[in-house]
Amino acid sequence: MTGPILSESARIGGTLVWYAAICSRQVWLMARGVEPDRRDELLRLGRLNDRETYVRDRHDISFGDNRFDILREEGGTLVVAEVKKSSRSMAAARLQLGHYLYELEKQGQEAKGVLLFPQERRREEVLLDEPLRKRLDRIYEEIRAIASAASPPPLARCAYCRSCAYGEWCWS
Ligand code: SF4
Repeated sequence: MTGPILSESARIGGTLVWYAAICSRQVWLMARGVEPDRRDELLRLGRLNDRETYVRDRHDISFGDNRFDILREEGGTLVVAEVKKSSRSMAAARLQLGHYLYELEKQGQEAKGVLLFPQERRREEVLLDEPLRKRLDRIYEEIRAIASAASPPPLARCAYCRSCAYGEWCWS
């Protein structure tokens, strides 16, 4: 299989961090440029319908290889918000948003994060602290190791397979 492979200097985007928290096989596939079904992907990432709830705030800010749902200022603090369909993948969502905060920090911009779950009428703050930075640093290493492997991680069914945009690639 051919396609882009992450090098040491490649930037890691938020979606790849999300994948790393869900399934290492997804990381390998995306790093190789294997495109998932876009609609499935948007649904799985919770980026359809519910984002319209926050249409007044939405900006889709691009920052390096990252794209935030919402960027706004609250009481003098920059706030990055991500809208998710459900809190089922909370750990992955926290890492993805933490990654955005870390990227901003590396550019000298402090910010706090908020995860929004409109269907659940819930919001969760994400603060970039030392444990989160260390966790992200480990994830970046894992991503680079997975991406540079010649073959994908072995197949193993998990709770996300049923709704995964790579389902056909893995299981047909
Ligand atoms: S279908 Fe399952 S094993 Fe394959 S990439 Fe998706 S979550 Fe991973």
